[in-house]
Amino acid sequence: MVDTADKRDRTVRWPITREGKEVIPISQVAQGIYAVGPLQSFPLSPNAPYLVVGNEWCAIVEPGDAHQPHTLLEAIKEIGVDQNCIRYIIPSHIHIHHCSAINVLLKEIPDSKVVVHPTAVRNLMDPTKLNQSTKGIFGVRTCPTLDPVPEDRIMPVRDGTVLDLGGRELEIFHAPGHATHHIAIFDHLTRALWPGDNISFNNVATKRGRVGIAAPMFDADAAVETFRRLRALHPSMLLSWQGSLAFYPADHYLHTAEDDLIATTDIIHEGMKQKKTAEEIQADIKAYHDSLGIVITEQEEYEQQGRIPVGLVNWLKKKYPELEAPAGMKGDTTRERNQQAISGETSAA
Ligand SMILES: [Zn+2]
Repeated sequence: MVDTADKRDRTVRWPITREGKEVIPISQVAQGIYAVGPLQSFPLSPNAPYLVVGNEWCAIVEPGDAHQPHTLLEAIKEIGVDQNCIRYIIPSHIHIHHCSAINVLLKEIPDSKVVVHPTAVRNLMDPTKLNQSTKGIFGVRTCPTLDPVPEDRIMPVRDGTVLDLGGRELEIFHAPGHATHHIAIFDHLTRALWPGDNISFNNVATKRGRVGIAAPMFDADAAVETFRRLRALHPSMLLSWQGSLAFYPADHYLHTAEDDLIATTDIIHEGMKQKKTAEEIQADIKAYHDSLGIVITEQEEYEQQGRIPVGLVNWLKKKYPELEAPAGMKGDTTRERNQQAISGETSAA
């Protein structure tokens, strides 16, 4: 049984040091939901895995990357939960910084399973392509990798699957957009929602949601549909895998992410139709951002939000085969070629 009740009330903010030493950041963000982090991660921004505590069983949501599982297990001990109560490990999708912690976690928690959409199973069992393409994008030195996951440790879940933790249920929604195999996780008890990379970076200044549109298999129509489905759940909060960013109110972030995605897609589509150059389209996007006071952060620039996102252009070319990529678009750099390569991972059928 889970060691319940009082111990759950502690809230620790990060960064925090005790006697000169940094301690693990743990925050209770809702009843029985703990964010551990943000923990330092490989080149992308820090991850925050979550522990969800039920009366009988627990789940880890957004387990993070391979640098982090030991810290997470230590934090779980500190929260006062027996790790053997953890039944489910649920990454929103299997991009490497969301899931590569699972090898250690599955080993240390023998009765647990990793919960994914059925289209992600093949690439968990054989992650060769996923590892290669991720290393190609981020460099080999610090990039974590995923080891093959045995089939009997994978639990494929379809839209609407409910995981019963005892006294609380987590419902899984298929949430394509950022990736075809992407899922969102909804806690019935607190109405907290993990949207994964469907709501990626928070623009702190303007409080707008932002979908991760750099992904090579990005699908704008699917993303809009996902936003609408998730909004219909009336979530009380969005819990970001980046942890330090709390999304309140959820509806506003989902709404603005949808508005900005539709606007950006229209600008690029129109620009491609008029055969505008990449620079001209980029200026149009900037004008839209300026009109709303949206500031593109360095991190977002890195993630291509401030440029013409290759994922969105690829998607438009697929939808409208007569269109060509804008002239001058940096579509042939090593980084972007490798992003094309990663599509093998997300397009698993
Ligand atoms: Zn992703």
